[in-house]
Amino acid sequence: MIAKKMVSYVEGSSVIRAMFEEGKKLAKEFGPENVYDFSLGNPSVEPPVKVKEVIKSVLDNSSPNFVHGYMSNSGYEEVREAIANHLNKLHGTNFNMSNILMTVGAAGGLNVILKSLIDPGDEVMVIAPYFGEYNNYIANFDGVVVKVDPNPPTFQPNLADFEARITAKTKAVIVNTPNNPTGVIYSEETIKKMAEILVAKEKEFGTSIYLIADEPYRELAYDGAEVVYLTKYYHNTVVGYSYSKSLSLPGERIGYLVMPDELDDAENIKAAANVANRILGFVNAPSLMQLAVKDCLEEKTNVKAYDNNRKLLYDGLTSLGFECVKPEGAFYMWVKAPDGDDKAFAAKAKEFNLLVVPGSTFFGPGYVRIAYCVSEDMIKRSLPAFGKLAECYK
Ligand code: PLP
Repeated sequence: MIAKKMVSYVEGSSVIRAMFEEGKKLAKEFGPENVYDFSLGNPSVEPPVKVKEVIKSVLDNSSPNFVHGYMSNSGYEEVREAIANHLNKLHGTNFNMSNILMTVGAAGGLNVILKSLIDPGDEVMVIAPYFGEYNNYIANFDGVVVKVDPNPPTFQPNLADFEARITAKTKAVIVNTPNNPTGVIYSEETIKKMAEILVAKEKEFGTSIYLIADEPYRELAYDGAEVVYLTKYYHNTVVGYSYSKSLSLPGERIGYLVMPDELDDAENIKAAANVANRILGFVNAPSLMQLAVKDCLEEKTNVKAYDNNRKLLYDGLTSLGFECVKPEGAFYMWVKAPDGDDKAFAAKAKEFNLLVVPGSTFFGPGYVRIAYCVSEDMIKRSLPAFGKLAECYK
């Protein structure tokens, strides 16, 4: 018998698996060129060429026992120092090696910081709609998920609801900007107001409330949109970064946490995160990838390719009469279900071989998510199918 807690996780994950299987079935039946799978956030852009060169060079020029060995649970010191310097140059911050912990992607980082902070019953706020895995990560440590209501049509955080739901038990708030699933970037004004609310609530309750900035999409911002660096706005901010999307390396599992010295109890949190990385079973982030990203800090993914897709899809869908939130970042489009029923809309879309994810999966019903990290060609080929879908709602 599996653990009781796992039963619902397995059931939940079979929904996603069913979608994946459905895509494969449709491809067999209609030919892969006639199936338009917009369901997954797997980057379509290849990693920069330099990544491969650096990996080869690291393997050729370093001792195998160094490249493939254990190191400090927080990561190689020279890698963490290079990242701290890089962030200081970009954001005018004052980090050093001790503030950086190399992680197994953003997912690993979130689990490490939640393990470090959360006692059973502590509340962790999430801003709907949001990446559904947060629920599982919070449940791993018996935290309680507190959802902030969605805020259409801008999908900036609903600040009144945010403020109202903070309690003496609130230990952390997870924010994700640029956002999966909406593509929205939280404005500087929003972040300033959130910080003001948090400072006031910390004072009111005499507690520390940690803001966890989940930033796998930081580099994917369009039309010059600014993605502010949250540690500069609020003292109790931990940043989780990932190279999954910024260097198209999701399978390599590499990222880092930033834990500034300004955090309440900073030294203990850094020590706890180091131990959490080990005892969660990660031990350390993948060694070869740590060394690879150190020499790729200036590398950028082909944002232009995603931007082209964004424009093509946005123009195509809006001209068909669909209401879309214009994405400012990430590679997702948030599209309103014309009759408000996102599950029925996604099911109807599937009749035209269009695979999109119902917003309910992200706790944002009434919308669907379209992941446009696909080939430009597929978007072009899919538009007639979207046209037929639009006809059904006329
Ligand atoms: N956070 C968000 C919002 C994501 O969309 C994802 C992946 O899609 C992750 C975290 C996990 O990313 P990683 O591959 O870095 O673990």
